[in-house]
Amino acid sequence: MQRGSPERELAVAAAAAAAEEEEEQQLSVDAGAAGEPERPAREEQPKAAFPVPARPRAAEEGDVHVARRLPPALPLAPPRPAARALCQLAKGRGRSRSRGRGRYRRGSGSLRPVTVDSSKARTSLDALKISLRQLRWKEFPFGRRLPCDIYWHGVSFRDSDILSGQVNKFPGMTEMVRKITLSRALRIMQNLFPDEYNFYPRSWILPEEFQLFVTEVRMVKDGDPTWKPTFIVKPDSGCQGDGIYLIKDPNDIRMTGTLQNRPAVVQEYICKPLLIDKLKFDIRLYVLLKSLDPLEIYIAKDGLSRFCTEPYHEPNPQNLHHVFMHLTNYSLNIHSGKFVHSDSASTGSKRTFSSILCRLSSKGVDIKKVWSDIISLVIKTVIALTPELKVFYQSDIPTGRPGPTCFQILGFDILLMKNLKPMLLEVNANPSMRIEHEYELSPGVFENIPSLVDEEVKVAVIRDTLRLMNPLKKKKKEMQSQHPGKPFAGKEDRDCDLTGDPDSNPEAHLPSICLKQVFPKYAKQFNYLRLVDRMANLFIRFLGIKGTMKLGPTGFRTFIRNCKLSSSSLSMAAVDILYIDITRRWNSMALDQRDSGMCLQAFVEAFFFLAQRKFKLLPLHEQVASLIDLCEYHLSLLDEKRLVCGRGRRPQSSPPQETNPTTQSAADSPAPRIIGANKLSHSRHALS
Ligand code: ADP
Repeated sequence: MQRGSPERELAVAAAAAAAEEEEEQQLSVDAGAAGEPERPAREEQPKAAFPVPARPRAAEEGDVHVARRLPPALPLAPPRPAARALCQLAKGRGRSRSRGRGRYRRGSGSLRPVTVDSSKARTSLDALKISLRQLRWKEFPFGRRLPCDIYWHGVSFRDSDILSGQVNKFPGMTEMVRKITLSRALRIMQNLFPDEYNFYPRSWILPEEFQLFVTEVRMVKDGDPTWKPTFIVKPDSGCQGDGIYLIKDPNDIRMTGTLQNRPAVVQEYICKPLLIDKLKFDIRLYVLLKSLDPLEIYIAKDGLSRFCTEPYHEPNPQNLHHVFMHLTNYSLNIHSGKFVHSDSASTGSKRTFSSILCRLSSKGVDIKKVWSDIISLVIKTVIALTPELKVFYQSDIPTGRPGPTCFQILGFDILLMKNLKPMLLEVNANPSMRIEHEYELSPGVFENIPSLVDEEVKVAVIRDTLRLMNPLKKKKKEMQSQHPGKPFAGKEDRDCDLTGDPDSNPEAHLPSICLKQVFPKYAKQFNYLRLVDRMANLFIRFLGIKGTMKLGPTGFRTFIRNCKLSSSSLSMAAVDILYIDITRRWNSMALDQRDSGMCLQAFVEAFFFLAQRKFKLLPLHEQVASLIDLCEYHLSLLDEKRLVCGRGRRPQSSPPQETNPTTQSAADSPAPRIIGANKLSHSRHALS
């Protein structure tokens, strides 16, 4: 590995994360801790095949899939510790928390404190409060008449009407990470880049792809009779393991009654997970999407590992329904009777991910490689999600109208395979930020007690997200760019003195930031994957009416005309038929059929079709890249022409450098290669 190479940097970060833990780790499993989020109000759902125990208030780590609007949350009552050890722990933390409480920014001179509206924080409120105290920022627990700098929403972007500042949710994120939408977005990427996107299990969408599922499985089985697959069926709107079951044969899918009303994803089951102490476990990693355009992604250096509570055996007809063996959900395993609450980060049924890395490292595993594979998985997944997020964004926050900028913490659920390859299970738009869990004092009597593991990981994630989003830092950076002569630290990982006075660094008392930037840091390695993103820019340009997310027939025609895609072999009548065919099919599959018109995914399908027609002999991703180049080129010419006409001068642009787009390799340079094309991506809206 080269010195200074990204791999090296990733590895160093991984090693550092693991090393931080090393001294304290006792790598034995004897106790555990857990946290639990709000149980969202949601539809009655059919029961899982597994004998899922009746759940009291305990819930899953993450996955706060929440019905659109919930009643406003009140600040949680302070936890009442039950166990003496945890009590002392809580006292210890209480002491440290109270330091500096209520103080404004030390040494901040005339600077006002950063203001945060926490009135919609819901289950993340406790962790948020601790973070704000540590930062010495000003909290408005019941909202504020004047605008705040930051609005912390527990559920969704739409929790209230915000016209300025920053909000910790993107419009459309909840929709985007639903199992079906995520599977569709990743499938587009798998079609374009099969090798790069092999970290997501092969999936089919039910009910519409049931026949395809049956046929494809039969074909593979015919080719390889030794293949004995297992599949996992997951309801689209489900969370916390609800309604999930395993099958060996496609015909075992329960089509009766509910499937039509309750769409699902059926997925290849990963039969050979990495085991620790014979138990299956998964990883919850926190990822900050700091900005959509330009894309900025951060990954928390530590996460959580959630363990099954029954020793793992590869699926067979006898154990398919053993929920405590196959599903790692906290909300299920807490009921197994073998769940181990912990008093340290490295033991029990919920541990820090760094403690797992540390343990693997002691066994000789190359944990730097594991980390770098995980980082790559995260960046690729976000790249798959951003195109449609941009469509949501421009619809919710049209240019020219006031609105907040957005950021969001996502929960990535990842399974390590036996060969240490990370596989993506799902992405949660509202990962649980609870820092306490329910403790069963006596049968049926529960009490909330602090969870050390949750607090350690989650408070750091929230606090450091806020530090990265600090509006005063942003202002300072802007000032620095206006006055470049003045010295400035400039590196986001470094504590930042907002006043310019080195003695008054308001973050000096805080640990270094736990979130590591991975994009644009590694943009060079991943930018070539951003083809759908460029298609989304084209799509948005032709949407026309502000606030819409679907392209009308006129918009599609204008796109074809402006990009000069019609020809003697593709008449405008054929274009209309293409539009009608694809749009009708996508709309019949859509969960939300309120809007008519062509959605982004239908546009992508039409685009693939046009690219394949025009650049026949190339691999799909090169066909698509070539067509994007061509479109961007024609649109940039058009823009230039309009600009010049506006000024009453002749166009200055030189003829295109290349006339045969088929000779270009998209992988060489992901950014538009044609003069002026770059303007396109920002022509309609500046995101974030
Ligand atoms: P939910 O949102 O209901 O928690 P998940 O997709 O996270 O649904 O799946 C629940 C659990 O099932 C995961 O935590 C994991 O343990 C297991 N699981 C999910 N998909 C797979 C898969 N393809 N292979 C193996 N295990 C899986």
